[in-house]
Amino acid sequence: MSVQVVAAKMAEVELKDVPSKDLSPVSPNASKKDDKEGTKAETVATVSSAASPSTEPTVRADPSPNATKMPQASAMKRTDQQQNGGEAFVNQDGTVAEAPRMKKDKEKCSDKQQEGPTEEAGPSGGQQIQFADQKQEFSKRPSKIGRRSLSRSISQSSTDSYSSAASYTDSSDDETSPRDKQQKNSKGSADFCIKNIKQAEFGRREIEIAEQEMPALMALRKRAQGEKPLAGAKIVGCTHITAQTAVLMETLSALGAQCRWAACNIYSTQNEVAAALAEGGFSVFAWKGESEDDFWWCIDRCVNLEGWQPNMILDDGGDLTHWIYKKYPNMFKKIKGIVEESVTGVHRLYQLSKAGKLCVPAMNVNDSVTKQKFDNLYCCRESILDGLKRTTDVMFGGKQVVVCGYGEVGKGCCAALKAMGSIVYVTEIDPICALQACMDGFRLVKLSEVIRQVDIVITCTGNKNVVVRDYLDRMKNGCIVCNMGHSNTEIDVASLRTPELTWERVRSQVDHVIWPDGKRIVLLAEGRLLNLSCSTVPTFVLSITATTQALALIELYNAPEGRYKQDVYLLPKKMDEYVASLHLPTFDAHLTELSDEQAKYLGLNKNGPFKPNYYRY
Ligand code: NAD
Repeated sequence: MSVQVVAAKMAEVELKDVPSKDLSPVSPNASKKDDKEGTKAETVATVSSAASPSTEPTVRADPSPNATKMPQASAMKRTDQQQNGGEAFVNQDGTVAEAPRMKKDKEKCSDKQQEGPTEEAGPSGGQQIQFADQKQEFSKRPSKIGRRSLSRSISQSSTDSYSSAASYTDSSDDETSPRDKQQKNSKGSADFCIKNIKQAEFGRREIEIAEQEMPALMALRKRAQGEKPLAGAKIVGCTHITAQTAVLMETLSALGAQCRWAACNIYSTQNEVAAALAEGGFSVFAWKGESEDDFWWCIDRCVNLEGWQPNMILDDGGDLTHWIYKKYPNMFKKIKGIVEESVTGVHRLYQLSKAGKLCVPAMNVNDSVTKQKFDNLYCCRESILDGLKRTTDVMFGGKQVVVCGYGEVGKGCCAALKAMGSIVYVTEIDPICALQACMDGFRLVKLSEVIRQVDIVITCTGNKNVVVRDYLDRMKNGCIVCNMGHSNTEIDVASLRTPELTWERVRSQVDHVIWPDGKRIVLLAEGRLLNLSCSTVPTFVLSITATTQALALIELYNAPEGRYKQDVYLLPKKMDEYVASLHLPTFDAHLTELSDEQAKYLGLNKNGPFKPNYYRY
């Protein structure tokens, strides 16, 4: 069945029971994410007790056995259920703590939360949610971008999601702050704040290019011709504002939603795309190179509007959610749910949940299989070569490369480099991943064994001090050093800032660090994420994540009262399978269908889910 037909079928969504076997508890499913705070989130996918069978949504049975149907949508919680019926939370030390009971109503969203979530500390004594000081009042007279410090410490959210941060236009010649400009779109609306509305046409082309690689969202749009599952939804969003996000926003709009949007990152906005969105009638408040004050001002402009109150949140990093908690807690009385994409944002939500202060249901999109597997493995497999090539023009064939860490990111990097004819070494601390590397044909070594001979060093461990000064001292002349892990702690860049070493900026994001004897190493992006800093990431990968976000919004918005409590949920596996199935037609892929006999033999529903929640893929 074609995607178009599948999309049309989506219009047939109705409510029906989930078979009880779909609701059986499952084993832990280890999360592949980490973050700067060291939180290794265990994804313990257990079906929520909140889901009463009578309130579960599914799709009307499709007459065609091959049909890819909108899946049943009883979301899972990332917790174990304890015998006493309370919720279990896995602490960082591996112990399990009981969460406080959730209140039945939204009273806890009242003014007593004015202090915001900064003071939260989970019952397990876990980490507090860290927000740097945020200005409560915006500067009365907005200053020019050029005079503002662009170093942003407010949150690390901006690097949690690996969306493309590249903009194709550079508006740096225009120093006027968008806050000082009076702009209107061609229909006379001024309800936006962007760099330059005149760039709209160019931005529209970028959006149209992105649409080509976002087949599932385009398929969802077809649904708009029928029932609009987001009719009445007022979505306030805070994500990277890129062409891919624009495709998501326009899809949400086609499905019936009104959207107001701010950027989750002060650098990542594609100004021309923001212009196209504003021209198209979207209330967008974002530009590349915002100051910290601008950042919160833009979020506030999205939320704080006379006569308009959001009822859904789509967040990437938790800053928007935090702002509403802090400034407008009463808004949560009307908000039906939060969809969060990033590691950090999800971490914050779990902290709120643990403290019993989460006012509304939240969907953890970050831990969906379709996000993790594709963002980490395939995104890095596609973008590692791009990042290296754009910065150094290096030829890969025959080069000796060492990749530190053979997790999802490391596997992607190794596969790409091997395919280009590089000689790839791997370092690992985990014997299982080490064995995988061996069986995939890579030489497992200690870094010290190869450090003198390799041409390229790539870290992807999520750890700290993997490449220390001693190794940097021993590298050969011209060795390229870069990081693909989340934080800039993997390479000890600080140890290179000593008087005897000379730094030479040879290109944007490329430094030569020169030793007294003339040896130089090539350091990329100062040890920060290479692909995020120096390349784009594939639109198709973002399509998968964006589709998951859209489905999470549809699910939360349409869920009947009581299906979701004030807690954090994972999308059910059937949704992940559905997202994947919507992307298959791009490859003219033909899925095999279970026979009745086979389904019975495996104990599966013919329409999925096809794997238990603990399945690792
Ligand atoms: P992972 O946990 O699957 O893999 C990391 C691997 O590194 C593990 O196998 C671990 O055993 C190994 N490791 C840890 N310390 C080590 C050390 N000192 N030496 C050698 N190996 C070591 O995680 P992942 O999904 O592969 O992600 C890795 C990092 O990349 C994370 O920080 C993640 O946030 C980030 N990430 C980056 C991108 C991107 O686009 N660049 C995308 C997704 C994730």
